Amino acid sequence: MKHITIAIDGPAAAGKGTLSRRLAETYGFHHLDTGLTYRATAKALIDTGLPFDDEAVAERMALDVDLAGLDRSVLARHEIGEAASKIAVMPSVRRALVEAQRAFSKKMPGTVLDGRDIGTVVCPDAAVKLYVTASPEVRARRRYDEIVASGQAADYDAIVEDVKKRDDRDMNRADSPLRPADDAVLLDTSEMSIEAAFQAAKRIVDAALN
Ligand code: C5P
Repeated sequence: MKHITIAIDGPAAAGKGTLSRRLAETYGFHHLDTGLTYRATAKALIDTGLPFDDEAVAERMALDVDLAGLDRSVLARHEIGEAASKIAVMPSVRRALVEAQRAFSKKMPGTVLDGRDIGTVVCPDAAVKLYVTASPEVRARRRYDEIVASGQAADYDAIVEDVKKRDDRDMNRADSPLRPADDAVLLDTSEMSIEAAFQAAKRIVDAALN
């Protein structure tokens, strides 16, 4: 049986995570949210209390990340995401994490990886590449609704600013900036429900696999 990788990239809060998990379930593939590997590295670094700009220490934390032990409930925290996007500019951190992600991508019978550089750097030979996006305002609105639904207070304008700041950092870094691979299919979910976005993604994957 032929091994298949589905690469899903896009900016923060575009809905990649939900889509990737559902696609992995649908096809019986393993799923890796590569953002969690950057978050785990950032958290380990925060826990050491050492200065954040020491690339050698950050690289050591990246080499020690255990892909089997990534705990979303701990790593989802906002300040960990911010810290992750800061250490994600460090080439030696990226090298260490990309190597672990590539090893994961080879699992049988297939894999779904989501992140920022999957189609361009981690798995350039992926059978299917999706670039999932939505306007910053729509992404901020979804995040706002999530926070409010969980019973916490949220400031929409601050979230929009935050989403734009994170986009800017991810799209303009020198090493592996966020951009669609030349052969990626673009999926703009601004006007779509989660279910509609999933159905659209599944059609794209089915068309590519047949
Ligand atoms: O997707 P998530 O918000 O969990 O990612 C946190 C940060 O990790 C991103 O803002 C980005 O800077 C970095 N990241 C990356 N490459 C990936 C996945 C995440 O640089 N493949």
